Amino acid sequence: MSFQPTFAIEPFRIKSVEPLGITTLEQRRTVLERAGLNTFLIRAEEVLIDLLTDSGTGAMSAAQWSAMMLGDESYAGSRSFFKFEAQVKRITRFRHMLPTHQGRSAENILFGSMQRPGSIIPSNSHFDTTRANIELQGMEACDLLVEEGKHPMLEHPFKGNLDVVKLDSLITEVGVSHIPMVMITVTNNAGGGQPVSMANLREVSRICRSHKIPFFIDACRFAENAMFIKLREGGYQDKTPLEIAQEMFSYADGCTMSAKKDGLVNIGGFLAMNDQDLYERCRNRMVPIEGFPTYGGLAGYDMEALAVGLQEVLDESYLRYRLENIEYLGKKFLAAGVPIVRPTGGHAVFIDAGALLPHIPWQQFPGTALCAYLYEISGIRSCEIGSVLFASKNRDGSVTPAPNELLRLAIPRRVYTHSHLDYVAEAVAYAAEHKKKIRGVAFTYEPPVLRHFMARFKWVES
Ligand SMILES: *Cc1c(COP(=O)(O)O)cnc(C)c1O
Repeated sequence: MSFQPTFAIEPFRIKSVEPLGITTLEQRRTVLERAGLNTFLIRAEEVLIDLLTDSGTGAMSAAQWSAMMLGDESYAGSRSFFKFEAQVKRITRFRHMLPTHQGRSAENILFGSMQRPGSIIPSNSHFDTTRANIELQGMEACDLLVEEGKHPMLEHPFKGNLDVVKLDSLITEVGVSHIPMVMITVTNNAGGGQPVSMANLREVSRICRSHKIPFFIDACRFAENAMFIKLREGGYQDKTPLEIAQEMFSYADGCTMSAKKDGLVNIGGFLAMNDQDLYERCRNRMVPIEGFPTYGGLAGYDMEALAVGLQEVLDESYLRYRLENIEYLGKKFLAAGVPIVRPTGGHAVFIDAGALLPHIPWQQFPGTALCAYLYEISGIRSCEIGSVLFASKNRDGSVTPAPNELLRLAIPRRVYTHSHLDYVAEAVAYAAEHKKKIRGVAFTYEPPVLRHFMARFKWVES
């Protein structure tokens, strides 16, 4: 028998280090007071381990940093653009690619080029910027996630799948002419990165093609999704992540991408597609928003880093480590009796704060309370995904809570080590042990829109 370690080690070593923000309990209490218990209002230097988001927070490799020195900053026809384009085409095989400075501008250009007000764009789950960009064009964003995806505790390999029965009936109900596009988000960000199966992509593609409806992938985490397919779906064990990604994209007509995720860069994105006419419309719309089509809001050196990142992200040992790391953290939480969304996804672990803190009613935001408490005891920054973010106000003035009161710990790519995750696991276990001491929170300032970003809270008196 050959040596088989019980976990996937970081497949890299550290060349450049950055100190963590080390603070005392007293300092963190002052910070929390100043930030109104809202982790979005804390300065990064006051954070020990930052799990606020996995977007744009990853570490670049030595190969990426050195490629940046080759950046060609020509306004038109930059050599760096062609390197970047070649990598996008190698993976997606789409005919056309437009660079953008991040994912949401790819969305803005795509939906702004459609001119189809009143129509509906279904998806498994639209990300919030995607939804906003669809709604800005007078269209409706519609989520058709499979039922399994809506139950946090239910184990299922592909909780990000789109419900094809619902898609079929939506098409019958509103008519093909009212559906300019179908989208699938891989992995499904809304659920912490739950994957979409190849079978589901194939089936959605078949339905779209039979109706001549374009099918686009929101591809932010395409490599993590490809690895989940390799690990969980029959027939893919012996395929490389690149081959799997190529097959995923072969079912679609185009994609939007935030390279701040699986592009392994801190800024960047793109829009890709096959259709010549749509491409020309997007290109025309792009010039006044993002810039000339061979740089699109990016520097030549950004495109160099991205061209390398797109190759590195499909490395199998990297992806194995990435997914196992997140699973490892989830297992530690479960061992400490902390309820989490199961199975763990590709980029985050969600704690069910509502279930962990039953003494805090949803009106006192258990996710935000746990988030503030966790920062107080440990310096770890996370964010609430619950009723502060998602509660909706009804016409009669009543409020419908979010379906679940969650705390999200998103893991930046290639940034934290196993020992950092062990620290997180110990801090969360401590919080769970002392949960009776955690009080609810109440607004002292409630912004009218996107309230989670700027809101301020106080602890509720016990
Ligand atoms: C991050 C993200 C976006 C938006 O990308 P930005 O680079 O933040 O503009 C769109 N869709 C999904 C699924 C995302 O995770």
